[in-house]
Amino acid sequence: MIASSPELAKALRNIVGHEHVLTENDLTTGYSVDWTGRFVGSTPIVVRPGNTEQTASVVKLLNKYAIPLVPQGGNTGLVGGSIPMSGEVLLSLKRLNTVEPVDGLALQLTVGAGATLAETQEHVRNHNFEIGVDLAARDSCTIGGMIATNAGGINVLRYGAMREQLIGVEAVMSDGTVIKHLEGLEKDNTGYHLPSLLAGSEGTLAVITKARLRLRPRLQEKVTALIAFESVHDAVEVATRLRQQLPSLHALEAIFSSAMSLVSSHIGTQVPIGPNGNAWLLVEVASGTDPFEEFQQALENCDDVIVDVAVAIDDRSRGKLWRFREQITEAIAVIGTPHKLDITIGLARLEKFINEIPEVVKHADPNSSTYLFGHLGDGNVHVNVLGKDGGEPSNVVESAVLSYVASLGGSISAEHGIGTAKKSYLHLNRTSDEIRFFRNIKKALDPNNIMHPNCLLSD
Ligand SMILES: Cc1cc2nc3c(=O)[nH]c(=O)nc-3n(C[C@H](O)[C@H](O)[C@H](O)COP(=O)(O)OP(=O)(O)OC[C@H]3O[C@@H](n4cnc5c(N)ncnc54)[C@H](O)[C@@H]3O)c2cc1C
Repeated sequence: MIASSPELAKALRNIVGHEHVLTENDLTTGYSVDWTGRFVGSTPIVVRPGNTEQTASVVKLLNKYAIPLVPQGGNTGLVGGSIPMSGEVLLSLKRLNTVEPVDGLALQLTVGAGATLAETQEHVRNHNFEIGVDLAARDSCTIGGMIATNAGGINVLRYGAMREQLIGVEAVMSDGTVIKHLEGLEKDNTGYHLPSLLAGSEGTLAVITKARLRLRPRLQEKVTALIAFESVHDAVEVATRLRQQLPSLHALEAIFSSAMSLVSSHIGTQVPIGPNGNAWLLVEVASGTDPFEEFQQALENCDDVIVDVAVAIDDRSRGKLWRFREQITEAIAVIGTPHKLDITIGLARLEKFINEIPEVVKHADPNSSTYLFGHLGDGNVHVNVLGKDGGEPSNVVESAVLSYVASLGGSISAEHGIGTAKKSYLHLNRTSDEIRFFRNIKKALDPNNIMHPNCLLSD
């Protein structure tokens, strides 16, 4: 049975209901283009199961006929991983959005894979908790997609990435078997840890249907500062000092000059401090008690290198400072279709990288422009490159940047994953032996190779 056959659509409709199988181009197109517009695929069928049982029956049916599928959550992924690039069936998990009551005793929550981060945050905040991972795509990205990409975001330096939030999962394996381990036991050394394996598996091993997450205390007292520096060197130096001195450090983000000019014109607000600076840190501290004095002291200790600082205490002013960081991705999307390269570099080499990478890019494509920003507390830099007139840059840019990253001992994917965009570069970070074992795991869990076969691993 081929993916476009009317028999398949009929069999799928019998499982999920008529209105949840989409076959008309008008209806499927939105599922086949990514957030940036760079990755455009196509699918003969979009299936939208409403619960775990339906998901399992769909996967079992597709496996029976060896029909490949691409799981999709909020479609906010930035590496082409959520898009059916080879005509796969698109499995949308957004209807699996049940958020169960907060377990205030265990400080945990069981949540459906299709719930958005924002919905989940709102639910737990009513009980004075937070989800440990937060990111700007919160209104659309789903818990399942965040697990599948092991999403990072702005609080990794405090709580870790998505894998660290995960205690248990429910998942549909490639043959339709449902595996469920949601008891939420903090200590449980009974064999392989499936949640860890699925975190970062990008839909290639199983479909995540539910998750058991750790909850973090809601820290009501927050102070945010935008700090300007003359040089990247000074920004990196202060980032290290703040990590040493501030137990309440909650976020440590960086914006470099071209990204700052772009975002400030996009949001129509002048940079409040150091308009001619070369680097800015956006720093947030959060605590149960007022962290202002601790923060002030730490900033005074960095007086020798800070050019200027703007501090915000109330939610509205804090939000205004955050716009300089959170609106960069949108600002770039408005002027073109970037290649988004999301990398990590050890802090010892970060300054060299930031200073040299624009030249590396220019050498590969003289008409390109580079925008740098990221989660500096984790050594994570987003290198966004636009080509001439906002078009895509030359493909040579990608290999030039990623090879340079690898030569400095960095990772070619800090938090966005490999997807379809970077699979041909995996060898830069992983040995052939590692990749062989990746393939062995994939083959053992998905012998018919139906689970997102064009993602993560090259042919
Ligand atoms: C403005 C903006 C800001 C962002 N900021 C950050 C950031 O700070 N940190 C960060 O890490 N990312 C960031 N991202 C990227 C993106 O939001 C994350 O990768 C997010 O985790 C993707 O979730 P999603 O539900 O949209 O997944 P999708 O984009 O739908 O899918 C992503 C991958 O997960 C797989 N998948 C999705 N759902 C499931 C499931 N239930 N089971 C199995 N596999 C599944 C897909 O097949 C695909 O490979 C940002 C994106 C945007 C647009």
